[in-house]
Amino acid sequence: MQKNPFAFLEGGGEVATLIKAKDWSATSIGKIEDWPITLRTILGTMLPSKYPMFLYWGEQYLCFYNDAFVPSFGIHGKHPSALGEAGAECWPHIWTEIKPLIDHILAGGSSTLFGGTNIPIFKSGKLQDVYWTFSHSPVRNGDGIIEGVLVLCSETVNEKLTEISLRESISELEFAVESAEMATFDYDPVTNEFVGNARLRDWFGVAKTGKVNIDIALEVVLDEDRERVKTAIQNSFVFENGGRYEIEYTIRNKDTGQERILLAKGQTSFDENQNPYRFNGIILDLTKQHLANRKIRESEESFRLLTQALPHLIWVTDEQGAQIYMSKSWTDYTGIEQIIDTSWPSIAHPEDIEYINKKWQNSLESGLQYSTEVRLKRNDGVYKWFKVDGVPLKNEDGKIVRWIGAFSDINDQRLREEQKDEFIAIASHEMKTPLTTAKGYLELLLLTIMPENTAALLYADKANQALVRLQSFITELLDVSKISHGKINYNFQEFNLIPLVREAVHNAQVTTKQHIISIDSVDTINIEGDKLRLMQVIVNLLSNAIKYSPSGTNIKVIVSCEADYVTLCVTDEGIGMGAEHLQNVFSRYYRVKEHAVHFQGLGVGLYISYEIIERHNGQMWVESEVGKGSKFYFRLPIIQ
Ligand code: ADP
Repeated sequence: MQKNPFAFLEGGGEVATLIKAKDWSATSIGKIEDWPITLRTILGTMLPSKYPMFLYWGEQYLCFYNDAFVPSFGIHGKHPSALGEAGAECWPHIWTEIKPLIDHILAGGSSTLFGGTNIPIFKSGKLQDVYWTFSHSPVRNGDGIIEGVLVLCSETVNEKLTEISLRESISELEFAVESAEMATFDYDPVTNEFVGNARLRDWFGVAKTGKVNIDIALEVVLDEDRERVKTAIQNSFVFENGGRYEIEYTIRNKDTGQERILLAKGQTSFDENQNPYRFNGIILDLTKQHLANRKIRESEESFRLLTQALPHLIWVTDEQGAQIYMSKSWTDYTGIEQIIDTSWPSIAHPEDIEYINKKWQNSLESGLQYSTEVRLKRNDGVYKWFKVDGVPLKNEDGKIVRWIGAFSDINDQRLREEQKDEFIAIASHEMKTPLTTAKGYLELLLLTIMPENTAALLYADKANQALVRLQSFITELLDVSKISHGKINYNFQEFNLIPLVREAVHNAQVTTKQHIISIDSVDTINIEGDKLRLMQVIVNLLSNAIKYSPSGTNIKVIVSCEADYVTLCVTDEGIGMGAEHLQNVFSRYYRVKEHAVHFQGLGVGLYISYEIIERHNGQMWVESEVGKGSKFYFRLPIIQ
């Protein structure tokens, strides 16, 4: 009987305490008091060790381990149940792999060492990958008989992970080099030789493998660039310069004759004596980029030359209206290099600024073509009239990326028009009174003619109709004159647009038997506007649809809502017009030549309508095709 059978557990930590507390009598090795001296000695050695150790003992390969091994079981692992458990129960899943290793030692085989096995363990509160090296060695008793197998475990975490992360970095680097289609080089300044990846060798037309003398590569560089490249390399070998290398040059492949514009970037490494021992880096092929840039430059140059040759003042803005380009003719005319928002007041006539700005904002928001007239100050202070047109330039997604436009000098034309306007304004004003008088007398006459005098009644009625037409011409001409002088008064109020549209359709239908006018609309769309003026617009569109569909066909009025706008479209199946007229029909006195021969009109109805819609913060436009008909649209903001 020993004095203290647990003495070997002294200083053995938590596992030792567990061993002491455990009832071993039911196991194959029996009570602790009966354990052989070899087991006690080896446990007394391994339990206090800070190195993870594991012991297989006896016929059942009973498991023992020390505190340092415990984390390897994981948080919810087998500790402490593994203590004293048979090996086959402790490691059921991997026992077939472990047992031969133990048996090899038990059979007297030489000790083994296995490295690089990943067994994740809990460290600093989380499961981490840990790579282990295991050594299996025999535990012999005093007679040399092997009674157990000791497993020493050492963590090889750092080397393994470093190796893995190095491998990963290399593969990432290779991927990056491949994706960016880079060539790489690594030059040894001592031997004057370099190695490069396959791409570099292909570009330079040098040997596919092995080291290459740098002079062979330099021969491929174009004559005009070679000295520059040599100097740049030499400069990067000077320690004080920091070792950086960056240069653009052109090469011509000797076999294929293909030229490439390259951008090379490198870095020299220096030893402790500040001598260069390595110079490596990458090379990018910029040929495509250079060609694309050249094409852009050429096309910009032709655009610039074109704008110089034209008498128009050409401008380009970004999608928000900020100036990007003004042609030289603009600078020559205004004397101003660059226009910024605040410089408008010094160029445009003060009376025009508010109006043109509003129109410009309208176009920027709606994306519809910009067209207006404005007085611009010449560099000598004289104002001249210009027509300005701007069109949006869209990208493949239909998004506006630029606005391009031109100012065209219309000063003479505008002055002539002003004189004409003046004359028309005076003449129509002077005609208004005698016409009203004549109409009054004619109506009196109609009342006094005897009903049986049918011929007189017919003539008087015809004369009355002619006077009504004349009156409407004069009203239109007076409207034009009012617009030119900004004198149309609007009576804005909130109202439902739809009854107005229906009334206009009804009145138009009464005037024609040859056409069928249909309406497709919801019942209520509230807007803010001048009822009479909007009625005038709809009536004008309908009477044009009737007038320019002489063979009589269907006319459709479609009212639709979209977000904050209502859109009204009058569609006819009449004579239509060519694309070249679509913008001009909204100009004053403009009439399509071919129409003017056959149809009466002054060419001002659409001009007046356009102005009215604009004053309602709306837009008006037309789609048309010769012989197929026209669609006239206007769009107004809705009151929600
Ligand atoms: P007017 O009809 O009195 O000539 P407008 O200003 O109403 O003047 O129209 C201008 C021009 O636009 C017309 O002269 C005609 O050439 C063309 N136009 C207008 N509406 C239509 C239409 N529905 N179909 C074809 N052409 C049209």
